[in-house]
Amino acid sequence: MLLRSRVALITAAIVAVAIAVISTVTYLSTEHSLRAQLDETLLGGWPPPGARPPDQPKPGPADLCRPGPPGRPLQRFVEGIQLLKADGTVCSPPGVDSVVLEPADRTARVVTLRDGYTQSGKPVRVLLGPLGDGNVLAISRSLAEVDSTLAGLRTILIAVSVLGALLAAAAGLLLTRRTLRPMARLTGAAEEIARTHDLDLPVTVSGRDEVGRLGRAFAAMTGALADSRRRQRALVTDAAHELRTPLTSLRTNIDLLARSERTGRALADRGRLLDRLQVQAGELGDLVTELVVLARDEHEFDHAEVAMGTVVRHAVRRAASRARNHTFAVDSAEWTVSGDEGALERMVLNLLDNALKFSPAGSVVTVRSAPGLVSVADEGPGIAPADRAPAFDRFWRSPEARSLPGSGLGLAIVADVAAAHGGYACFEDPPSGRGALAVVRLPTEGSWADGVIPGVSAKCRNER
Ligand code: ADP
Repeated sequence: MLLRSRVALITAAIVAVAIAVISTVTYLSTEHSLRAQLDETLLGGWPPPGARPPDQPKPGPADLCRPGPPGRPLQRFVEGIQLLKADGTVCSPPGVDSVVLEPADRTARVVTLRDGYTQSGKPVRVLLGPLGDGNVLAISRSLAEVDSTLAGLRTILIAVSVLGALLAAAAGLLLTRRTLRPMARLTGAAEEIARTHDLDLPVTVSGRDEVGRLGRAFAAMTGALADSRRRQRALVTDAAHELRTPLTSLRTNIDLLARSERTGRALADRGRLLDRLQVQAGELGDLVTELVVLARDEHEFDHAEVAMGTVVRHAVRRAASRARNHTFAVDSAEWTVSGDEGALERMVLNLLDNALKFSPAGSVVTVRSAPGLVSVADEGPGIAPADRAPAFDRFWRSPEARSLPGSGLGLAIVADVAAAHGGYACFEDPPSGRGALAVVRLPTEGSWADGVIPGVSAKCRNER
């Protein structure tokens, strides 16, 4: 069943129950008051003037036993009056539709009221009043008026209940349809996205209510998914393009080797060719590893407390193990950041690898780490201000760097890791004016530490 039909039905049921309860209470209290009024009328007339002892004025109850019309004082009770005599006989005025008596009626010692029926089957209220000498006077009043009033009331109340429930159902249906209209639009958009797989389809839901919030959350979700898909697609396209060159040269070299094997003609530089193959295969492996790192989404990063001083020292140790002609000057304070230790170490290592790659043998690589900042300075040719921002793009390499090993993904990974930790990476003007100064700035415990490394300013942030 549709939600709006369900809401309409529930509204109608609730309203119907409420009206039914109110109607029942109204009906019962009206019935009670009408019967009380009738009883009062009956009791108000007791004792009847003709039954007043001891100096019974004429005519008295005995008149009832006389043939002919009753005397005047009894006239108003003529609707139903009977004298139940002690000897067991019953007198009533002629022409009166007398009450069907019950055995207990004759023994009434106090004034009692009960429901009953007349001989012709009409409902009546009966008052039984002892006259003192063993005789009991039964006076009755018709319940027909009360019953017809109650029947009328019943009809009205049932009609009101049904009408109220129908109105409530219609109002519920109308209201839910209005309220759920944005929901229907949202559902339509979601179904369209599911059908076409087009995450860029617009999701237009306005309003500040729950449905509006849901719509905005849904739009934000599809936006984030579209963004993630765009990035993944761009990465795959770039990767396919970048993998083609090393794969072509790998295939050419393997073809050369295979042809020499087939023809039996020895290759002059077979050893060098094999070395190159090894290097190319290694680079291809590195490229694939870097691509896998880049393909990770932000939420796949860990969120642990990471000691950055230790991370920097580890990265330096790893870089030093493959740097034979460089020395490292490390100035590392201990500070912590919430994040992924492995990714942060790779980030620092990429900066160190670049410093080693682009600076001359025998030079010093200066590494500094202080709350919120990691910087790596080298004594190489440096990087032109115009190239500083694009250097962090995927696969970007300066023309001079193309002859060196590398994929152009190292700094893209640095920028990605820094961004995933709420920070950023950039190149700064080195204080000495020589070489390159790569800087990563990260917020510590959710806030930025003031720049403590000389030469590193907010300018870096603006550049990115
Ligand atoms: P790769 O090092 O594999 O070429 P990166 O993304 O690490 O890729 O670097 C991109 C480019 O930025 C490099 O090709 C180089 O031109 C420039 N670059 C990076 N680090 C330095 C550095 N320390 N000194 C000079 N140029 C650098």
